[in-house]
Amino acid sequence: MGFNHITVAGSGVLGSQIAFQTAYKGYPVSVYDINDEALEKAKDRIREWMPYYKRDLGATDEQLQAAFARMSFYSDLAEAVKDADLIIEAVPERTDIKTDFYSRLAKVAPEKTIFASNSSTLLPSQFAEVTGRPEKYLHLHFANEIWKNNTAEVMGHEGTDPEVFDRVMEFAKTIGMVALAVRKEQPGYILNSLLVPFLNAAQALLANDVADVETIDKTWMLATGAPNGPFAILDIVGVTTAYNIIQAEAQATHNPDAQRIADMLKTEYIDKGKLGRAAGEGFYKY
Ligand code: NAD
Repeated sequence: MGFNHITVAGSGVLGSQIAFQTAYKGYPVSVYDINDEALEKAKDRIREWMPYYKRDLGATDEQLQAAFARMSFYSDLAEAVKDADLIIEAVPERTDIKTDFYSRLAKVAPEKTIFASNSSTLLPSQFAEVTGRPEKYLHLHFANEIWKNNTAEVMGHEGTDPEVFDRVMEFAKTIGMVALAVRKEQPGYILNSLLVPFLNAAQALLANDVADVETIDKTWMLATGAPNGPFAILDIVGVTTAYNIIQAEAQATHNPDAQRIADMLKTEYIDKGKLGRAAGEGFYKY
């Protein structure tokens, strides 16, 4: 059974993309955020995505305006979810914020509503109980620039109803995603389970002065046919995010290699404003 109405909670970088993509594919979408200022920012963000839909998907102005017209914006949670078959949560990546959000949502969402989180690093079992409907809770993880990087990793916890899992897989396909089933809980899903160790290995080669940025990237690209090397990817991800990941690992494991990488990122890149492609310079100049 398909879904008729979708709500997206949290309309920041990813939430605004998920909401617009879903509306672009024909669904009525309610967008929820904490106040009107955040919602106005979301509308500005959505207008920023539109040229990319034209460039990358050949979308017309009429299609883009029709998509926008299918969206409504709320700072009242009960209003935002009253018709939702599915709510996609994209609030900040903090356990306390998500826990608080789900406990409030549990009180106002209709019984039928399925809850899906776009969390990058947290696990569904962490929030299953507080949702009040563990069998209808799972993760639906998108990638940045959703309209072209169209992966949707679907991951339940032990108590997720398999039928709910299948319905969310089907929904993901209807909004233009390639739906990817993750069959058990895995921090980092599939993509980041592969990508994070790979990027860390590249940074270790640099921090240990084994080779320079260009040589490491060139080796990877020539030997595998990949279009980008690890440092070009890191520039897209953003150096601050890479730093946060490796610094957390250094603190958790007391691994001196991880600490050396974190220190290098901080002094050689972050402190010098070399934050990645969005900043005009990271490991490369743009
Ligand atoms: P963001 O900071 O850009 O946006 C978060 C939004 O949530 C903001 O609009 C904020 O106003 C709102 N918000 C704050 N508190 C809230 C609350 N209590 N209730 C509702 N909304 C609230 O963050 P983001 O980068 O869009 O990340 C959101 C989620 O998506 C995170 O779980 C993150 O792990 C995940 N994610 C991010 C990316 C990425 O590349 N940025 C990729 C995949 C998944």
